[in-house]
Amino acid sequence: MKWEGNRESDNVEDRRSSGGGGSPLFGGRSIGVGTIVIALLGGWIFGINPLTILGLLSGGQPAQVQQAPAHKPPADDKMASFVSTVLADTEDVWTDVFSKGGARYQDPKLVLFRGATPTACGTGQAAMGPFYCPADQKVYIDLGFYETLKNQLGAPGEFAQAYVIAHEVGHHVQNLLGISEKVDQQRGRVSQAQYNQLSVKLELQADCFAGVWANHAQSARQILENGDIEAAMNAAAKIGDDALQKQSQGRVVPESFTHGTSAQRVRWFNNGLQNGSVKECDTFSARTL
Ligand SMILES: [Zn+2]
Repeated sequence: MKWEGNRESDNVEDRRSSGGGGSPLFGGRSIGVGTIVIALLGGWIFGINPLTILGLLSGGQPAQVQQAPAHKPPADDKMASFVSTVLADTEDVWTDVFSKGGARYQDPKLVLFRGATPTACGTGQAAMGPFYCPADQKVYIDLGFYETLKNQLGAPGEFAQAYVIAHEVGHHVQNLLGISEKVDQQRGRVSQAQYNQLSVKLELQADCFAGVWANHAQSARQILENGDIEAAMNAAAKIGDDALQKQSQGRVVPESFTHGTSAQRVRWFNNGLQNGSVKECDTFSARTL
């Protein structure tokens, strides 16, 4: 991926200087790149059954974690520069897409943290994987996730890393468009299985929005190099619910899916990438996912 020298965003908050600590409970609601990834990794980190952690994630109380002072990342931090550049690219693309639709895009913030950090959705934990909190409009990422993505999930490559950010920014776009709120309103009104279905649609749409970003970034700035698209597709496949469940528990339970299968995630990312249009990302009306 070609990104060096491109604009970096001012919307990155670096909270990595103090490590966080805090309790492993998580309250409130946030939308991660894969709750199952989280459960899977959390299972490894805490040495307990992933499903127990899933219970914690959906039902825990917010814990108090001291917030490290936010400041800009150091200029010589290459990984932070990469993240800031990708975030800036999403800002440019979505500002443009919104303005063509007669709307104004509001930039999200992106928080770099280590370990744990307070969010308006409760305490964010590194073990949850990257996530977006609609209540404070911030994307949270512990950059250690990229090591996990490469080494444990088998998805290396800068463009795969960019896809992760673009997916979270996709959730921000859904928030601005009022889509996440509509889904959230169904919580408790429909069965858990039906709610999981809505969650899958929301996640696949975020994948599609990530593809829309990539399409526009490529036309405007020619960011793609050979193998990049395959790297992002591979990442989408490696964090499909079926792949993760197979890896963590040896079997697949479709009713419990919240992010979609590998094939679905690849398909919707590719759909956005090929068409570059938000209209092509209507997972809620699509007859087949
Ligand atoms: Zn997501």
